[in-house]
Amino acid sequence: MSLQTKYLLDESKMPKHWYNIAADLPVPAPPVLHPGTKQPVGPDDLAPLFPMELIMQEVSTEREIEIPEPVRDVFRLWRPSPLFRARRLEKVLGTPARIYYKYEGVSPAGSHKPNTAIPQAWYNQQAGIKKISTETGAGQWGSSLAFAGALFGIDVKVFQVRISYDQKPYRRALMETYGATCVASPSNETNSGRAILAKDPNHPGSLGIAISEAVEVAATNDDTKYALGSVLNHVLMHQTIVGQEAILQMEMAGDDPDVLIGCTGGGSNFAGLVFPFLGLQLRGGKKRRIVAVEPAACPSLTRGKYAYDFGDTANLTPLTKMHTLGSTFTPPGFHAGGLRYHGMAPLVSHVKELGLIEAVAFHQSQCFQAGVQFARAEGIVPAPEANHAVLGAIEEAMRCKREGKSEVILFNLSGHGHFDMSSYSAYMAGKLVDVPYDEAELAMALAGLPSVPA
Ligand SMILES: *Cc1c(COP(=O)(O)O)cnc(C)c1O
Repeated sequence: MSLQTKYLLDESKMPKHWYNIAADLPVPAPPVLHPGTKQPVGPDDLAPLFPMELIMQEVSTEREIEIPEPVRDVFRLWRPSPLFRARRLEKVLGTPARIYYKYEGVSPAGSHKPNTAIPQAWYNQQAGIKKISTETGAGQWGSSLAFAGALFGIDVKVFQVRISYDQKPYRRALMETYGATCVASPSNETNSGRAILAKDPNHPGSLGIAISEAVEVAATNDDTKYALGSVLNHVLMHQTIVGQEAILQMEMAGDDPDVLIGCTGGGSNFAGLVFPFLGLQLRGGKKRRIVAVEPAACPSLTRGKYAYDFGDTANLTPLTKMHTLGSTFTPPGFHAGGLRYHGMAPLVSHVKELGLIEAVAFHQSQCFQAGVQFARAEGIVPAPEANHAVLGAIEEAMRCKREGKSEVILFNLSGHGHFDMSSYSAYMAGKLVDVPYDEAELAMALAGLPSVPA
């Protein structure tokens, strides 16, 4: 008889609320500041960019916020997502640990990102908005919002980081298939894009620059709002459907995780998995180790400074306190484009400062090695971003082997790599180099952090 490896929830058990960790934090997160006055921003300051429902979620301290039925109806296309036990990987590793993963690659766009794209598009539609501008790095967020826009009749304009626009034509084709418009960033369509191109016509772009362009379009057009695929409180909250399902599925599996792991770019898939578990702990439950895994080439949590900074390069956004490499820092080009962001979600940064989570950084070649090992054992080819979490889980499983411990490990497999096979080709051809970040550029970017009175 074969052993069960896949745990699927009954649809009737699907979570009906998002979990808001702000309700359970021992110390509230520092406020978001207006860049001019350095005073906390109010809901009205954000109104040009977001519909009011999302702004209220951003500042809410309610523990539970209801998921609207039309949003849950779309989620039924792929949710609940499966939880797997990686028995074959355990065997290959020869570890006494039990490894589980929550697989978010089953969504139409191939990652966890539609979990927030769908509600964001829906709240915009409810507010009468017809157009949304956004940015995308590797193309995962752009295709997720393009998919959501198609379902709710919203025109989506995506500023795609130049280097990935050129390297990932199929992600662009997917966005266009869903009906979105895709522009390489920096572009000639905005003041922030033109300013960068004037200095360097061949600039490869960065997430920080693409955010500036998308925010500028929303701020200067009454009929257009802006959407962000990570970092913000409401985005992290939308992702908590992942962890809530996982809590129920781990119960079905008859196991309780000791270690939780996620990769971190802006922090949303990590928070989505771990915040519901952390909430249980903050309300008096079991303490678990929680590990964020980031790229060594863009190490905001392990090497960045916890300080107020802008979310974008042209300094159009409010100031948030976060682990940052500096908003002018351009991370070197590496293959997990979704992790190339200079900052970390304020809530993830805050729980790191409170000592509630740990962070580690790995180089991309070791991550691809782990991804290939995972694919050959479990069959799923992970997204390059998700390979960081895979390696994090393998490292923990090997520690358990050394220590003779049968701990339970759970990680978020945030997406599949079917649009990223050129990076796997590069890895297998031995052409993948581990790019260190530029210490001097980092020091310069950190020296340029805005000053904020204590
Ligand atoms: C975008 C992306 C990430 C990184 O973003 P987070 O907000 O940190 O989750 C990780 N994995 C995949 C598959 C992605 O598309």
